[in-house]
Parts: sequence; C-alpha cells; structure tokens
Amino acid sequence: MKDRHSDVIIIGGGPAGLTAALYCRRAGYSVTVFEGGMPGGKLNVTLEIDNYPGAPGTEGPSLAMTMLSQAEEAGTNIVYEQVTGLSLQETLKTVTTESGSYSCHALIVASGSENRKLGVPGEDKFTGRGVSYCATCDGGFFKGMDVAVCGGGNTALEEAQYLSEICSKVYLIHRRNEFRGSAINVERTKSKPNVELVLSATVSAIEGSDRVESVRVRRADGSEISIPVSAVFIAIGSAPITSFIPEGTLALAPDGSIEVDALMRTSVPGIFAAGDVRNTPLRQIVTATADGALAAASAGKYLAEIGRA
Ligand SMILES: Cc1cc2nc3c(=O)[nH]c(=O)nc-3n(C[C@H](O)[C@H](O)[C@H](O)COP(=O)(O)OP(=O)(O)OC[C@H]3O[C@@H](n4cnc5c(N)ncnc54)[C@H](O)[C@@H]3O)c2cc1C
Repeated sequence: MKDRHSDVIIIGGGPAGLTAALYCRRAGYSVTVFEGGMPGGKLNVTLEIDNYPGAPGTEGPSLAMTMLSQAEEAGTNIVYEQVTGLSLQETLKTVTTESGSYSCHALIVASGSENRKLGVPGEDKFTGRGVSYCATCDGGFFKGMDVAVCGGGNTALEEAQYLSEICSKVYLIHRRNEFRGSAINVERTKSKPNVELVLSATVSAIEGSDRVESVRVRRADGSEISIPVSAVFIAIGSAPITSFIPEGTLALAPDGSIEVDALMRTSVPGIFAAGDVRNTPLRQIVTATADGALAAASAGKYLAEIGRA
C-alpha cells in the first residue's frame, strides 16, 4: 500500500526535483517524487558533462544515478508514475496519476521541458524512423550515413559535431545566416570537414517511404532543394512541460514557463517551481540543482508558516 500523503510532493525526478528532494529530506520532511520517465531527466541524454563544477568529464547517465541514489538514501519515496492532473483544496494539494491521487501541503513542480517540433510534413510519421530529437541517443544508428541537423543554437551545433564523428556527412540546416550558439561551438562545428552549413534555409518537409530518405529545404529566395539523408536530427529548443496543470491555476510567462520569484514561489502559496520548467534565463544542470535547493528551502518555510513543520 503506497503512502498517499507526504509533506512535499515533487513532480519530476531530474536534477531540479532530485536536489529538492534531498534538501527536503535533510530538513526532515516526508517527500514523494513522481517520475514519469527516466530518473535524472535530461542527464540521461547527455553524453558528457564538462560544466558541472567538481565533476569534469562526467557522463550524464552516471550523474543521474548518483543524484537518484543520494536522494533515495536520504529517504525519498520515488513513485514511477506520470502526473496527469493537479487540484488545490485550501492548503491541501492533490496530484493525480494513473494509480489514483496523492496529497501534500507543499508542491514542487520540476517537470523540465520537452523538445520543440518543426511542425512539417513527415516529422511525426518518421519519428523513430529517421527523425530524432537526440543525437547522442540515436546517432549510432546512422553510422557512416549522411544525416541532417536542424537548428542554430548550442544543442544543434553540438549535435552536428557529435554526428560528424560517426556519420559520413552532416548537413546543418539553420533558418538564419548566423548561429545563436557560443563562438567556440560555432568554430568547432565549422572546423569539421564533413559538416556542410545550409544557412538561411528552412526545412519544409521530411520525405521517404518507410524511413527518412531526404529532407526538403526552402531557401530564402523561395527555391526548394531535396537533400538525400537517412536521418534528420531536430534541435530547435524546448518547451516547458506544464500540461498537467489546469489552465489558469498558475501564472505562466509568455513562453509557457512557470513564473516564480527569486525564492521559486509561484503565484499560488505552497506551490514552487524549479529547473527548466520555470522562467529561467539559463537551462543548465547547475541552475536546475540550485533552483531545487531554493524551492526546498521555500517549501520548508511555507510548511512552518502553516504549522506543518
Ligand atoms: C542533449 C542535451 C545536452 C545537455 N548538456 C548539458 C550540459 O553539458 N551541461 C548542463 O549543465 N546542462 C546540459 N543540458 C541541460 C540540462 O540537462 C537541463 O538543464 C537539466 O536536466 C534540467 O533539469 P530539470 O530537473 O529541470 O529537468 P529535466 O532534466 O528535464 O527533468 C525533468 C523530469 O521530470 C519528468 N517529468 C516531466 N513531466 C512529468 C510528469 N507529468 N509526471 C512525472 N514526471 C514528469 C521527466 O521525465 C524528467 O525526468 C543538456 C540538455 C540536453 C537535452
């Protein structure tokens, strides 16, 4: 029989959620984390992390497992279920999953973000059959083949670099003339002899019969070309995951992220948000973990204020 009530419920077991859980447990609160996918979140799709202080060259999945064990050893209850709904009754908050409902007094939303889609013909049809949103996850399937990467930020640049090591040729398609990514990433990408830049161009369709066979690209002058490729890696950013929050419950920023103050407090007392799902200027592991710690501290303060500490 699962415990249906905790002092704190955390939605999402990525870096933000697992850090919040660790801090809440160390403060003595009962904590349940709901994780609908892989614990560790996006760490699981990061091959190597070089910018998390104290852990240079760490592999993402390994850091994910370390964060999970640390939270579990502190006494966190992890429930591997997707949260589908949320309701608020006075001070009690209830989250719904496929197995029923769970209540808490303080809720921390740490559900991260999901890949943005291009929205072009063929994208959905070929997802898993040549269309991918993660080069480190799926690149190996296209060893020695020609592929395309779509996007102009750091993720697209890094994916192109990664794929250039295993694929014959990488077309990097970007709608602008210049990249949004860092100068060092742009230089590294340009130095790869098998990366061809296709700039001021947009993907208009992904084509094939059973699998991806080509990507159709529209240039600035309106002309279209078809580039034969076996895969298209889409890296055009991400959108915060908030679909389980009923409309109007929490104030959202224009980009759909949850609005919080400097203490990770949302517009509803007792609900906090941390990591990539919130209105943050930087979506990184170090900022997600810092948010998680702050959200936990604020949740503790809230529980004390309502006499639940
Ligand atoms: C390819 C790639 C490479 C990256 N490289 C780096 C890097 O080198 N350095 C760096 O600092 N950052 C990097 N990042 C960014 C970093 O991974 C994220 O900023 C960080 O993981 C955000 O943590 P988070 O906990 O907010 O969200 P996430 O890691 O996205 O975790 C959110 C978790 O919530 C779960 N979830 C979502 N909705 C629900 C629901 N309804 N019910 C239950 N669970 C739910 C998800 O399954 C997920 O596990 C990279 C990201 C990507 C995609």
